[in-house]
Amino acid sequence: MESLHLNPEREFLLRMIDFNKRIVQAHGSYLYDDQKRSYLDFSSQYGSVPFGYNPDFLWEALDRVKRNHEPSFIQPLTSIAAEKLSKLLIECAPKGLHYACFTNSGAESVEAAIKLSRSKTGRQVILATQNSFHGKTLGAVSATGREQYRSPFLVDTTGFDHISFNNLDALEARLAQKDVAAFFVEPVQGEGGMVVPSHGYLQGAKELCAKYGALLVLDEVQTGFGRTGKLFAADHEGVCPDILLLAKALGGGLVPLGAMLVKKEVWTKEFGLYHSSTFANNHLTCSVGLAVLERLLAEDRQLIKHVASVGTYLRIELDKLVQSYPDVFASVSGLGLMQAIKLRPWSGDESYFLGMAGYKGYCVPFVSGYLLNEHRILAIPTLNNSGTLRIQPALTIKSAEIDRIIYALRSAAELIRNRDFASLLSYMTGKKVGTDHRPTRREKFGKTFPQPEHGQRRGSFAFFIHPTEFEDVMRSLPQGCESYPLDQIQRMREWMREWNAFDSSPGVVYHLPCIQSKLGGYVEGWLISCTMTPQEMMRLNKREKKDLIEEYFQIARNLKVDIIGLGAFTSIITRAGTEIESEDIRVTTGNSLTAMAASESLCTLAEQRGLSLNSITGGVIGAAGSVGRLAAINLSLKIGRLVLFGNPANKSAITGLESLAGEIYRHAIQGNSPASEHDGIRRTLLSMLGNFDFVPPELLSANRSDANQTLYRLVQERVRTMNLCAGPVELSVDLPRDLPRVDALISATNQGKAFIEPVFLGENLIVCDAARPADVQKSVNSIRPDVLVYEGGLIQLPDDLSFGRNNVIGLPSGVNLACLSETVCLSMEGVSQNYSIGLNVPLEEAHFIYETALKHGFRLSLPGHMHEEKPRHSVSVQMVA
Ligand code: PLP
Repeated sequence: MESLHLNPEREFLLRMIDFNKRIVQAHGSYLYDDQKRSYLDFSSQYGSVPFGYNPDFLWEALDRVKRNHEPSFIQPLTSIAAEKLSKLLIECAPKGLHYACFTNSGAESVEAAIKLSRSKTGRQVILATQNSFHGKTLGAVSATGREQYRSPFLVDTTGFDHISFNNLDALEARLAQKDVAAFFVEPVQGEGGMVVPSHGYLQGAKELCAKYGALLVLDEVQTGFGRTGKLFAADHEGVCPDILLLAKALGGGLVPLGAMLVKKEVWTKEFGLYHSSTFANNHLTCSVGLAVLERLLAEDRQLIKHVASVGTYLRIELDKLVQSYPDVFASVSGLGLMQAIKLRPWSGDESYFLGMAGYKGYCVPFVSGYLLNEHRILAIPTLNNSGTLRIQPALTIKSAEIDRIIYALRSAAELIRNRDFASLLSYMTGKKVGTDHRPTRREKFGKTFPQPEHGQRRGSFAFFIHPTEFEDVMRSLPQGCESYPLDQIQRMREWMREWNAFDSSPGVVYHLPCIQSKLGGYVEGWLISCTMTPQEMMRLNKREKKDLIEEYFQIARNLKVDIIGLGAFTSIITRAGTEIESEDIRVTTGNSLTAMAASESLCTLAEQRGLSLNSITGGVIGAAGSVGRLAAINLSLKIGRLVLFGNPANKSAITGLESLAGEIYRHAIQGNSPASEHDGIRRTLLSMLGNFDFVPPELLSANRSDANQTLYRLVQERVRTMNLCAGPVELSVDLPRDLPRVDALISATNQGKAFIEPVFLGENLIVCDAARPADVQKSVNSIRPDVLVYEGGLIQLPDDLSFGRNNVIGLPSGVNLACLSETVCLSMEGVSQNYSIGLNVPLEEAHFIYETALKHGFRLSLPGHMHEEKPRHSVSVQMVA
């Protein structure tokens, strides 16, 4: 059953990691769900359940209150339990504290301390540490060292400041400004990832605070009451703060209760008169607090000694795990029964899904889901630091129970080490590891990329990608998921769909530390992906498209890259980059190299087949697009005749093509490209017309679309009258009629589906399909063995490198998309302007990029053998570049 009326985001996240159990009972360290399954708890509710769930002695304390008809809260009169608890607290707290002010939560204790310290010192600034956690009410969240908790709520942080933790120099520098009322600090940063400062830090902080007239406030909301192996963490250094903050465990896991303990000389009359809270000084909760404290102090603090000893045992075992699995775990930190193990973030080497999980901090939550569902152990991340798993059981935990979590973590580590993420994540599909899922042979993926040892870093790049259809999202899953049984695959699809609907924001999916240039030096790069399909992107309104691109850019900016490549539909929704305003980073669509790769490879293959380029007919489908246009112009320099195909659904297709054809004639007539001096359309035109004297010079110099159109018509007319035949560049919107005449074809549309049927294709045709998804139907392979169709727009990298196992769209190692390669080569070249922007990129620009790419060691990627099984169709429907 779903909780319809509770926080929907929280409910969603719980569902995604199969945490939505219906807990109906709890006892000791165990929770029980409605299926009578038990879960061993290693969260203890962020340290609030010191004796496990429902300890009898605390219920007895509550029963006593009931039996004796004692009051619950009787403000403004004094509760006897509050009186007793305050006395006992002051007796056992660090010596020097005198007054107790009760609260209902940790955050309320923090709020009280903010007020008191301002009232005492007459100063406003509350100084706290980065990565700290002090609660989420307005004042407490202002002290908390995490911006993410504040910015959505427009929290005004005037009067708050943060310095680095465990840094006395930073503390002194800030205190020296003499405007700080109090320095708030946790003896161990709990939600920050169980970070323990150096011994002497608290003592040093105390001395500095005294020197500069600020108060020292120790936030022991989490560390207090035995958690670290002493009653208070301050006892490890024997430090008495001016104010000590408590909560969590004081309520025994049954009631909300906190306290602020204050030195006599720090208390103020104003605070005494003007601070209050209805539920504070509560007799019922203080009765529980009293029983909690008495139990902790009983038998010469026996339980706290137990914490110290099992805490040491836990730490030794966790350290051993890190030693055994240094590739999986980075470190352990903490004190007593407040420990955390840090996972190494997963990289995109194995799959982009895992790369994204690593980037967005989902690795630990995913492992939590595994521990809960496979091992029945509840262990959760720390709040500020989602890369660490908190190991924070009840103080009563036994070493045999610690062995259980160690075993479970070892099992997780084995799966992660063996890259068996398909098993690790199997619970997301409702299946247990190894029931009916048998992962396929796990190829240990690929190369370790050479870290640059010498050579200079020439630059860096980011390339924007996204799946072009939902299948791509599935393909980005870890290896082995493809061998899930059908029902499990179906469930995984649903999981991905739900997840994408919740969070499709971009993230880094792959980091390539080093691509070497042939000229020496290297560049570093990142693939940034969101999980939207083209359809989803196209449905966004203008503002949303802009925001999405800005999110991509922000990530690239944080990575401080020099150049960005707009892959797939990130180019389309920015109108080939024309709508991007980027002052700080250079941008390219990569269209130039895509067009050059397509046209150059086609010419090379035709020549390899023994065809004379000057006597064949080339064709370009999608010639009005920016890749098609450039490819057509480049082909025209080498091939004798061309047919430009437009979209029959577009009424002005022929007009657009006329302008392109005019541009091609202009290049031919001017003959200013060395490659075209004696070849291609120029050669054909010269043989038909003898000279170009009939062309008015002003028509040649005006490179506008209307002038190009006029030029085209003029030349066609001249050819017709002199030769009684059509000119060398023809236009068509009729594929079935005109395609059979073509010998070498480029198809570069963004139709999004395969619409070119095998029957349209002429005999022995060579087709470079540069569209993604592919334009040519798959059946051509079996039906037309005479035809060669190959994936266009690919480039051989200078090195035999892959962008992880996915290699962007599942390409073979060493090969990649030309648009990505353009981005890489421009970063190698260190360019200072944008490239390949808009629909009318000059041919000279495309040639410059092609030459630059060759110079740095990139090569054309040609299909191996004419008639061999073409790999393209297995990979073609993936990411568009
Ligand atoms: N201070 C510290 C050190 C904490 O760890 C927490 C909670 O985790 C708080 C304050 C806030 O406590 P509460 O959630 O009871 O408001």
